[in-house]
Amino acid sequence: MELAQIGADVYACLQPDTGLGASNSGFVNRGGGLVVDTMWDLPRTRNMITLYSTVAREPSRRLVNTHHNGDHCWGNQLFAETGTEIIGHRLCAEYFLRESSPEFFVALCEAEDVGAPFDGFARSLRAFDFHDIVLTPPTTLIDTDTVVDLDGLEAHLLYVGPAHTPGDVVVHLPTEGIVFTGDILFHHCTPIGWEGTFANWIAALERIEALEPAVVVPGHGPLANTEGLRALREYLQYVYADARDSFETGRSTLEAGKHVELGPYAQWTEPERLAFQIDRAYREFEGVAWDTKVDTGRVFGEVAELRDYYEARA
Ligand SMILES: [Zn+2]
Repeated sequence: MELAQIGADVYACLQPDTGLGASNSGFVNRGGGLVVDTMWDLPRTRNMITLYSTVAREPSRRLVNTHHNGDHCWGNQLFAETGTEIIGHRLCAEYFLRESSPEFFVALCEAEDVGAPFDGFARSLRAFDFHDIVLTPPTTLIDTDTVVDLDGLEAHLLYVGPAHTPGDVVVHLPTEGIVFTGDILFHHCTPIGWEGTFANWIAALERIEALEPAVVVPGHGPLANTEGLRALREYLQYVYADARDSFETGRSTLEAGKHVELGPYAQWTEPERLAFQIDRAYREFEGVAWDTKVDTGRVFGEVAELRDYYEARA
């Protein structure tokens, strides 16, 4: 984990490992401080807070959660303890308690054999420590775009969901040319998508591209710029079009995944997570409502099958 200064009073806390749950955070050291997202567990969030404390004496007054996935907000309690205001979209708060619980992840990590679809997932989880997490949803809820004044520096909280998840918010600092995207951008790593739609995700990326930011802090992966936004938008468009062809041809979701020629996208880490996008595309083609819960067991099963398929081809 490393602290990078990206503006006069603006920092990113980056986890260079792009594997599952290795998320990024941001910090604006103005107006009492505004942090964007925590890490997935308490030890990593404590490390992050220690890094921020090297540039700010006081605990941050505000924390924004970009969305409800645990790798962006399961450290919230460490901020609540110091009286930090926790801000998120209403749907972020609503979905917060619908995630698998930290206790379930502890059990998965400690189980001898979790069964086929969750094997790889459990292996990735073991890099984290899910003990002692108390789910602490945001309490200052926003419904639409909101401006926070940080001693004259404006932070624009833009609601762009339901895209990667129902309650996606990105944080834009117009005068700095900086955007913290949460998981609207995965950079150099293959995106996962939950409840939401392709159209909204693509529109969200286009909206951020139009802001012409100089620095983009992705939810996962290294610092980016508009090129990174464009690359993910084109990936989503490419996969969606290929999936439509497969759907109309009558291929199963697994066959549809194998049908996609990844080309340059094969270089992104965990290419097998393509299964998440295929699944969501098929749900859309079948007319399933965007907020219908994703069948994670089935999708992780196809992630594992695609991983084996790529390994056999390599
Ligand atoms: Zn994430």
